[in-house]
Amino acid sequence: MRAIDFEQAADPAAALRLIQQPHTKFIGGGTNLLDLMKGDVEQPLRLVDINHIGLDRIVELPNGGLRIGALARNSDTANHPLVRSRYPLLTQALLAGASPQLRNMATIGGNLLQRTRCPYFMDTAFAMCNKRAPGSGCGAREGVNRMHAILGASSACIAVNPSDMNVALAALDAVVQVSGPKGERSIPIGDFHRLPGTMPQVDTILQPTELITAVDLPPSGFSRHTHYLKVRERNSYAFALVSAAAALDMDGNVVRQARIALGGVAHKPWRVPAAEALLAGQPLDDARSAQAARMLLDGAQAFKDNGYKIRLAERAVVRALREAHETTGGRA
Ligand code: SF4
Repeated sequence: MRAIDFEQAADPAAALRLIQQPHTKFIGGGTNLLDLMKGDVEQPLRLVDINHIGLDRIVELPNGGLRIGALARNSDTANHPLVRSRYPLLTQALLAGASPQLRNMATIGGNLLQRTRCPYFMDTAFAMCNKRAPGSGCGAREGVNRMHAILGASSACIAVNPSDMNVALAALDAVVQVSGPKGERSIPIGDFHRLPGTMPQVDTILQPTELITAVDLPPSGFSRHTHYLKVRERNSYAFALVSAAAALDMDGNVVRQARIALGGVAHKPWRVPAAEALLAGQPLDDARSAQAARMLLDGAQAFKDNGYKIRLAERAVVRALREAHETTGGRA
């Protein structure tokens, strides 16, 4: 058994001071970190509790957008009246993730940092996992890879990002607010998560000594026409095989602007601007949606067990766009 130091930070400045010590991790809801610690995948020597540093509020921004504090709980965020009415896509994605009990504990900042559920990563009995033990190899490439990536994978890692929320945030062009020893910075969500490349152990561009303080949503939440479609093996509680977040800004029957993000297919939420541009200025129909879906999936590479994901993702995009089109009004 290992002893772990535990400290409670009183405010963000104290949290930043405490995280500068080596082998230290922040803990908020702990829904992912504690699982990983129990399995010896994560082995911090010190935990800094950040639940009481005042970053759990959801407030309107002067530009009409919304700022969601990093410690806001998933359930509180999903059910917040402004999120439900202006950003129903986010509500839908949050409610599609985990169980009610987990959503009551999990935080927005922690959700951003969720680690992959690749079984070779989660179980230290497997020797080969470049994400857990850099240089050891990738057990999934030649092993069981039914849940793994079809886009953006590398020879070092074919894992997927497990978060539903991240897919909606990608479609909404969210911005992650971060504080660190060098000051504050704003990171567009599309830049926040990494593809695995040769360093699959690094999931995001967040530095270990930085603190996520908030997620900002821009004024346009595509409040009238959105849909989050999650395809999974059981409805009660499962990670996505594939998910599609669709958001449309309509001018009558014509698409003014479209956003599509895919989940369950890559190390980060997957967007292709050209696929969205294809829909702009045109009436929406399934044939055009299918064309956009093929552009999103361009370059997809299947492994032994996950070839089904390519067709499934294409169909998910078409259906999510159709559902978004047929939806009228902020709701979730
Ligand atoms: Fe590890 Fe990534 Fe390979 Fe899974 S896919 S075994 S996380 S290196």
